[in-house]
Amino acid sequence: MPEQEYALIGHPVAHSMSPFLQARLFAAAGVQASYRLLDVPPGRLAETAPALRKLSGFNITIPYKQEIIPFLDALDEKAAFFGSVNTVRCEGGRMTGYTTDGDGFLFALQSAGVSPAGSALLLGAGGAARVMAYELVQAGAPSLCIAARSPEKAEPLRRELAAMAGRRGLACEITLESFARLEQTAGARRWDLLVNGTPVGMHPKTGCSPVSAAVVGRCAAVFDAVYNPDETMLLRLAREAGKTAVHGMAMLVGQAAKAQHIWNGSRFPREFQRQLCAEAVAEMNRSFGREEHP
Ligand code: NAP
Repeated sequence: MPEQEYALIGHPVAHSMSPFLQARLFAAAGVQASYRLLDVPPGRLAETAPALRKLSGFNITIPYKQEIIPFLDALDEKAAFFGSVNTVRCEGGRMTGYTTDGDGFLFALQSAGVSPAGSALLLGAGGAARVMAYELVQAGAPSLCIAARSPEKAEPLRRELAAMAGRRGLACEITLESFARLEQTAGARRWDLLVNGTPVGMHPKTGCSPVSAAVVGRCAAVFDAVYNPDETMLLRLAREAGKTAVHGMAMLVGQAAKAQHIWNGSRFPREFQRQLCAEAVAEMNRSFGREEHP
């Protein structure tokens, strides 16, 4: 069978972990495939699109997760809901868009033994936060509090989630909060799960946390979508407070594994994905010249 060709398109893409993860997943699946980085400069997506159709599939990262949609022939239900695509399957010249971040998020929680069906506090209302909010509501969370810098900007998301919950007969109380009020009132509330969907704490600004230790102290488990560094300030606060702390690399591995399933039907044992996660953290730390955590 000829080698299948896959790619990641985005800008910039040089430091992406995707080639490392996808190469290992293709090897584990026994699929002969190449996976290359396609750095598409701003304004050049239209001229790149015809070449993408000839691939077996591709991933999309910032800034093209929305911009790619007009070039596709079909979208799966979740990608249509989010208006965002990170995986495309090409078959017979037809390109279908999917989003696999939600699968990655659920994998990360499951592999740490954390239920997505508890009360949740979500920080941020951007792309990753939307996906995680959807999965939490869909999983049966009884309440979801979304904290945003400008809560009024998150109102359309709250409404969409409430409508989705209503259509599916799910009872989830969805509220909006400002970060300032969250800090003032944290002492009065408790959540099963705190989810960070903001980039706060991400390399190179690693010295900050989106919320204080007081807020972290009111949550049983903490998940941070940020994966670089693997232990963010937020996760350090969680660990020091004796909470279950789940890092974003597991989400990255889970979304990559789901992309493989879409492309070639492969499924990977949970233990293999956990091991891949540890390897990916080591690889990332190596490429950033960091020491391993003990
Ligand atoms: P995005 O669409 O730009 O959304 C970022 C969100 O964070 C927005 O709601 C933004 O609020 C908020 N925010 C930004 N800076 C903030 C600050 N200083 N304080 C409070 N809120 C702030 O970004 P994204 O694509 O969702 O990515 C968010 C993070 O998730 C990134 O670190 C990304 O690497 C990570 N991520 C990880 C995975 C994974 O697989 N682990 C997957 C996707 C994303 P405003 O609207 O007020 O700006």
